[in-house]
Amino acid sequence: MFSLPLGFGGSAALSSAQVRAKGGQPKNIIFCVSDGMSPSVLMMGEYLSQIARGKGTRWAAMMNDMTASRGIQDVAALNSPVTDSSSSSSAWGSGSRIFNAAVNILPDGTKLTPILQLAKQAGKKTALVTTATVTHATPAGFGASQAKRDDEHLIAPQYKGRVDYVLGGGQRFFLPEIRKDKMDLAGDYAKAGYQVVKTKAEMLAAKKAAPILGLFADSHVPYTMDRGDGPTLAEMTSFTLDALAGEAKNGFIIQVEGARIDHAAHNNDIASQLWDQLAYDDALGVCLDFAAKHSDTLVITTSDHGNSSPGLNGMGLEYVDSGKCFERIVKGKSSFDVLGRLFGTKPSGARIREVIEAQRGIVITPDEAELVAASANGKKGVVINKLQDRAFGVLGQVLSNYYGVAYTGMTHTSEYPLITSTGPGSLPFEGLVRNTEVFPRLTKYMGIDFKNPSMTPEQASKFKAV
Ligand SMILES: [Zn+2]
Repeated sequence: MFSLPLGFGGSAALSSAQVRAKGGQPKNIIFCVSDGMSPSVLMMGEYLSQIARGKGTRWAAMMNDMTASRGIQDVAALNSPVTDSSSSSSAWGSGSRIFNAAVNILPDGTKLTPILQLAKQAGKKTALVTTATVTHATPAGFGASQAKRDDEHLIAPQYKGRVDYVLGGGQRFFLPEIRKDKMDLAGDYAKAGYQVVKTKAEMLAAKKAAPILGLFADSHVPYTMDRGDGPTLAEMTSFTLDALAGEAKNGFIIQVEGARIDHAAHNNDIASQLWDQLAYDDALGVCLDFAAKHSDTLVITTSDHGNSSPGLNGMGLEYVDSGKCFERIVKGKSSFDVLGRLFGTKPSGARIREVIEAQRGIVITPDEAELVAASANGKKGVVINKLQDRAFGVLGQVLSNYYGVAYTGMTHTSEYPLITSTGPGSLPFEGLVRNTEVFPRLTKYMGIDFKNPSMTPEQASKFKAV
C-alpha cells in the first residue's frame, strides 16, 4: 500500500540557517528538466518507485526538505497559454518569451543569445545531457538560436566551441553516412578537439579533459522500458559531472533533460512515462549527490510544460481498486512504440489483444480491441475526444480501464510545472516563478551582465508563427 515517509508534508517556520542555505551565489549550476511532466506525475512516480523499487524518489524527498526552495512556474509562450519545449527552454535560455516552435528567435527574426554561449564567453564550462537528440528543443533552448526547432541539422553545428560536453541521441544529424546532406559534422567536431563517442564503453574510456560529443542513438535514446545498451541518463550525467568537477575550475552550467517523459505522455503511455520519470529521478539523484559534496552548487529540477495531464482516478467502490489498478503498471515490458510495431500494419482486434496480453500482462475485452483496431486501420470518430482520436489515444483510453490512469488529450497542457531547487541561489525560485526570471538569475550568478531584447504579446501580435 502506498504510504509517504513519516513527516512528509510537515511544515515549520524556516530557521535563519535554513534561509541562509538558500541565499548567496552558486559557482556551479545544474538545471534539470523532466520534459512534459504534469505536476500529477510527481505522485505517480513516487508511488511506482515505492511499489516497484521499495524506495521513494529524490524529487518527492526534496519537497519535504526545509533547505530546498519549492515553487511552481508560469511557462506560457508569447503566443499561447500552452507552451512547447522550444519556446519554454528559450525563455529560460534567453530571458525572453517567443513563439512556439522557434528557438531563441523573436517573432521579427531577431536572434537571441543563448545562455551557454554567454557562459562559455565568461569562462564557465558548459554541458548538455539529454535522452532526446542533442539538437532537440530543450537542449537547443540553452545552446542555439534557430527559426524552426525542427531544423535540427542546422542546430547541430552550433554547439561546437560553445558546449564542452554534449551527450544524448541524434547521430543522424552528425554522421555523414546517415545525415541527409552527407555533411561530416562529427568530423568537424573532432577537428575542433572533441572526442566523438557512440557507446557507453567509449564514453567511459574518454578523456574527461577534452570536450566530448556523445551520440548514443540514431534518433532519441530508447525509452527506459525498451532499454538498449547505451548509457542511462544517470550514467551520462554522472560521467559529465565527474568531468566538470575536475575541469571546471571557474564553475559550470549544465542542463540535464529527461526528454522521453514528454514523448510517452504524447502517446498516452503511462507505463513508459513513469519509468522514464524514475530514470530522470535517478539522474536528479546523481546531481543532488554531487551537490552534497560540492556545496557551491545550485540544483534546480523543473519541467517545461504539462503534457496531457495524466491522473490516477478513483476506481471501484470507495476507490478501493485504484491501487490494484495502478500496480498493473509494474508488469509492463515495453513501450507503446514497440507495441505498435508488434501490432503490424492493418492489425486485427485479435492481434492487438494478443500483443497487449504478452507485453502488458493485461487481457482487454474483444470490444476494446476492436476499437483500437478500427483506429489503427484509419477510422476516425472512434472516440468522442478528438484530441485522442488515433490508435495510441484509443489504446491509452482502453488501458485506463485497467491502470486507472487517464489522460485529457495528447498535446501539451497549461498547468504550472513544479520547480524545486536546493543550494546557494535557490531562494528566488520559490513561489510562482515566471519562466523569464530564470535567465537573469542564472546569468547574475555567473557574473554575466547581459539582457536579450524581448517583445510584449501586443508587439508580437503583428507577426505570424512559423
Ligand atoms: Zn512535447
